[in-house]
Formats: sequence, structure tokens, C-alpha cells
Amino acid sequence: QQQQQTPHIILLASPGVGHITPLVSLAKLLVSRHHFSVTITVPSNSTSPSPTELSILNSLPTSISSIVLPPVALHGLPADAQVETLIWETMSRSLPALRDVFATLSTTHSIAALVVDLFGTDALILGNEFNALPFIFHPTNATTLSLFFHLPDLHRAYSLEYRDLTDPVTLPGCPPFLGTDLVDPMQDRTNDSYKWLLHMARGYMLAKGVLVNTFYELESQVIEALIEENLGTPPLYPIGPITQTDDSHLHNNDCLGWLDKQPEESVLYISFGSGGTLSCEQIFELAYGLEQSGQRFLWVLRSPNNEVANASFFGENVDKVDYKDPLSFLPKGFLERTNGLGLVVRSWAPQIEVLSHGSTGGFMSHCGWNSTLESVCKGVPFIAWPLYAEQRMNGRLLGDVWGVALRVKIGENGMVGRDEIGRIVRSLMEGVEGKRVRDRVRELKSKAALALREDGSSSKALEEVAIQWRKHVGNNLVQV
Ligand code: UDP
Repeated sequence: QQQQQTPHIILLASPGVGHITPLVSLAKLLVSRHHFSVTITVPSNSTSPSPTELSILNSLPTSISSIVLPPVALHGLPADAQVETLIWETMSRSLPALRDVFATLSTTHSIAALVVDLFGTDALILGNEFNALPFIFHPTNATTLSLFFHLPDLHRAYSLEYRDLTDPVTLPGCPPFLGTDLVDPMQDRTNDSYKWLLHMARGYMLAKGVLVNTFYELESQVIEALIEENLGTPPLYPIGPITQTDDSHLHNNDCLGWLDKQPEESVLYISFGSGGTLSCEQIFELAYGLEQSGQRFLWVLRSPNNEVANASFFGENVDKVDYKDPLSFLPKGFLERTNGLGLVVRSWAPQIEVLSHGSTGGFMSHCGWNSTLESVCKGVPFIAWPLYAEQRMNGRLLGDVWGVALRVKIGENGMVGRDEIGRIVRSLMEGVEGKRVRDRVRELKSKAALALREDGSSSKALEEVAIQWRKHVGNNLVQV
């Protein structure tokens, strides 16, 4: 069979909207700006891909192919398996199917590189098997990358649970983090998800390079510190912010008409990502707190998870048609009392369009990294309310290091009370503090835009990688 001359890149996404979305945007960039052809592969199981994920994949331009790998069974896992373990198992059990995809594509394409996201490190060996350069796309910031690079050392240095450490963990170029702020899988060293995390951190060493969804100007200190430390880790390339550009295919545009009618920068947008849920009690507190604040709001409300505020597995709540109406969990009379001032939408909003809208003046966010970058790119300041994954670290960066967020105070009962919510919402929307973070996020917005210009730091970093990939294919052709 004839080999296509255009160098081909295989991307491996992990399940989850927050994972697929930035890889899709990366794929678009690789095609439009660097003239590669791209296939996105997505492992699956009985609950994924969800309809939202499928609709993202179905809306790809024809220049990008996508392959959903056959669903794997997740039997034999302990009852307390965390979401990270489920994703890792899905990824590693999909390796044989991914190998088949490689074998097929390599007969027709010159595969230059395999790029996996953080849960896909086990697949990097396929890059070596098929002579494609193995790369990682790290979908969050350089600070968590530094944590991963240092994790094997931290593991040796501490025998206690990180959450029980009295002193914060300090990494070069990063703010000190309390043990309780570290990523979820580090909160219980006896759980499988911690073992997986260590395994993954070691797997990062197998890559030829790590593409990081950040920009140099945002995290120069930690990036420089990693270079200086010279840990023997693969080179990192800050290529972000890589964010979705168009989400209009993802239904529910009603709220945009409502936003059109609101005064400029007057509305607080409230969303906890593609899978974040609050408990029943917390929904009540948030509702009363919003009422107390007297501010306008657009609230994306999902049905509660009464165990913990958490990621619903692979975003399944978002798509469950038989789920009880989220609005039924609001306090009695709330919708009537806030009529005209606020709008509550069920489960999903077109976030990019909401953040781009002139009426949006703030974002109460769970600090998921995609949401963070999207809001920075649109110059919208935050109320940081981290829930899971690495979000507590993100919240700290947003509030204390970059100064673009006010951070909610969580009470001793683990809840954010209505008074605190009322206070912080007023403070962001009309207080002095709010003005400070708004000015600061606008500065970051400009820096992000500069990084993405053709001569900007992120574009240059991706170009450097693209040159390596093209050269690799060129070398392979010469060898043939
Ligand atoms: N998102 C959206 N509408 C919603 C909720 C989420 O468009 O109502 C998108 C959001 O724009 C972002 C992604 O879903 O691109 C969520 O990713 P993030 O990393 O912020 O959080 P995660 O869902 O992974 O926790």
C-alpha cells in the first residue's frame, strides 16, 4: 500500500470531556498550523464515551479522524476504586486495541509521533514499537508537572500520609502546598490510585518530551526551576493555553439570550466543570448565599451527589436522561425570589460563549484547568471553589500566586456557608478586591494572547516540537 507522505500524529485521549477537549484543540492546531494529519484515539468502557464526548468527536473537521477503541470491561477492581483508577484501568486494558490501530495506520501513514495524555503513559511503549516519537500532553499546569516529576522522591522522603504532614511540601519555583492541597490520589497512600499515580510519574520518564498546557509567562519560575534542577526528566514544552474555541455544537444556548439582556459585566457565572457536583446541603447554602449577595448570576446546576463533592464518573450525570430534575433540589421559592436577577440552567452551558459574553463579570469555578485557561483567555476573574483532582493546587495558584481569584473559605463542617458565599460574591462583583483580581486577570489575558501569537513563546515551543517530528519522519524515510 502507498504511504501517505504527510507526517501523521496519533493522539491518545483519556475518557472525560476535560481530557478530550484540549486534545481536540491540539489536533486542530497540528493540522492547521503545522500541516500534520491526525488521528485521535479514545479508549472506552461501559459508561464512556458519554453523549457529550461523542458529540465533541462527531463535530471534528474531516481533516481529523477519531477512533473510539472497543469498550473494555472493568471487572476485578476493589469496591473503593477511585475515578483515577477507573480511568487508568480503562487506558491500560485498551492497549491491545491501540496496538491494532497502530499496526493498521502504519501501513498507510508515516507516523511521526504518539502523544498520550497523563493517564496514557503505558501506551508510550507503542511509540517505540512503531518508531513513532513518544510524547505526553500534560493537560494541566507546570506546577503539577513538577509535582509528578518529584513524586518518586517525595514517596521516598515521607512515610506519613501527606495529609498528616505538619509542614507544607515545597517544590522549587512553586508556592508551598499543604499536604491536603495535593492531588486527590495523594490523599491516601494505601489506595490503588496512589500506586497508579507513582506508576504514571515514573512513566513520564519514557517520553521524549512533555507538552504542557500552560504558557511560559504564567509559570516561568517553576519552568526555570525544573530546567535548572536537571532531574533527568524529558524536556517540557509550554504550548498553551490550548482551549476549545467553539462549543456551539454542545446544545443549550438559551442562556445566551438571557445574558444579552443583562448589564455589562454584571453576571456571575457558576459552574463546576463537566463532572463536578455538590451535596444537597451545599446546593442550599449556595442558593441562599446568592440571594444574600443580591448579584446577578447564571448557575449551571447539576443534581447532587450526597456522599462528597466530587467528579461524577466520566461526567455520567451530565448525560443521564432519567436523572431527577436538578432544579428540584433548589430551596422552595428560590427561582421565584431570584426571578429577573438570576438564571439556573440544567447541567450544561456553552461555557466559551458565556465567558466571552460582555455581560459576564465573574466566574465561580471548581478550578478545573480547562475552565481556568478559558476564563483567563477571556479576562474573567474567579471565585475559586476547588472540588477534586488537582483543583486545590490550581485554586491556590489562582488566588495566592497569580492574584486572579478570591478563594472561598471552607467551614469546619467541610461546607461553604451562605454568609461566606454572599460576602465573596459581593466582593468579586462590586468590591475593591474584585477590582484588583479583575485588573490582574486582564493582564494575564494579554500575556496569554501574546504567547499564542505566531512569534509568541507557546507557538515557538510547539514549532520546535513539530520540527523534531517532521525530521523524525524524514529520517525514517531515508532509512527505508
Ligand atoms: N464545560 C462546558 N459547559 C459546562 C461545563 C463544562 O462547556 O456546563 C466545559 C468547559 O468549557 C471545559 C470543560 O467542559 O472545557 C471542563 O473542563 P475542566 O478542566 O474545567 O473541568 P473537568 O470537567 O475536567 O473537571
